[in-house]
Amino acid sequence: MEDFEDRVTGLKEQNDVVLLAHNYQRPEVQDVADFLGDSFDLAKRASKVSQQNIVFCGVDFMAESAKILSPGKRVVHPISPPNLVAKCPMAGMVDVEGLESLKREHPDAVVVSYVNTTADVKAISDVCCTSANAVKIVSSLPEEKVIFVPDTNLGLYVKRFVTDKELILWPGYCRTHVWITAEEIEKLKAQHPDAEVIVHPECTPDVIDLADTVGSTQGMVNRVKESDGREFIIGTEKGLVYRLKKENPDKEFYYAERAVCPNMKEITPKNVLRSMETLGPEVVLDEDIIERARMPLEKMVAIGR
Ligand code: SF4
Repeated sequence: MEDFEDRVTGLKEQNDVVLLAHNYQRPEVQDVADFLGDSFDLAKRASKVSQQNIVFCGVDFMAESAKILSPGKRVVHPISPPNLVAKCPMAGMVDVEGLESLKREHPDAVVVSYVNTTADVKAISDVCCTSANAVKIVSSLPEEKVIFVPDTNLGLYVKRFVTDKELILWPGYCRTHVWITAEEIEKLKAQHPDAEVIVHPECTPDVIDLADTVGSTQGMVNRVKESDGREFIIGTEKGLVYRLKKENPDKEFYYAERAVCPNMKEITPKNVLRSMETLGPEVVLDEDIIERARMPLEKMVAIGR
């Protein structure tokens, strides 16, 4: 791996590249990232980098968001069409036609799209959100009726805090997070009674009910760092545990073995290296889509965490 790291470091300089990676990436990819974070931090970072080229290691909607927020930059996603495997399955659960139809049914509703959506869906939304700021974004809206797409579980979580609005939820979900069951968390709690339970809001409501803390991956990183606890049960994609262990070598982590997102893991040292060398495949979006999708993303970044 040292050779991989050396080559990536050299190519960053040579080709003026910044490497952004999501917290669910493979350990080898996390280790070479200039910046590692959750969707919110990555979106914000993408709009501020000085390098001309961004190699984005995550699923495709994240690379698209980077392109939308930095249209003047060359954004490269190591896996791009026609190889469609590094797509977020949840983002594929809502399409323009379906959302347009729901909007016609509820003309007085504002549309909040989770960033886990395609650029086309963002382009017909009013504002985006991530798991880090969904409650804050929905609360900040003056409208009483909100169409929330596509994650039902995140929408149900928002509903716990925002009780004065009607939320119309789309029936999407993250299969990786629904694989984490309440039964499994109960079992881990019984085995490690002193452990603090930290879960992601894409988990199902019965799992969220068992948590001490609920947050985005960056929120989880921050919570572990500030906590006096020594043991943690982590309810999110397994990749985050690598970062948590690396940054907190004196703490113990327990997690659901099955919680792996195969789409995130399609980014490998091999295809990262190829992207660093060739600066491809480039993320290409219609100018019109970039224009229309930028407003809801920028609104989200302006409202913040
Ligand atoms: S973990 Fe879930 S939401 Fe995240 S990319 Fe994978 S399928 Fe999509």
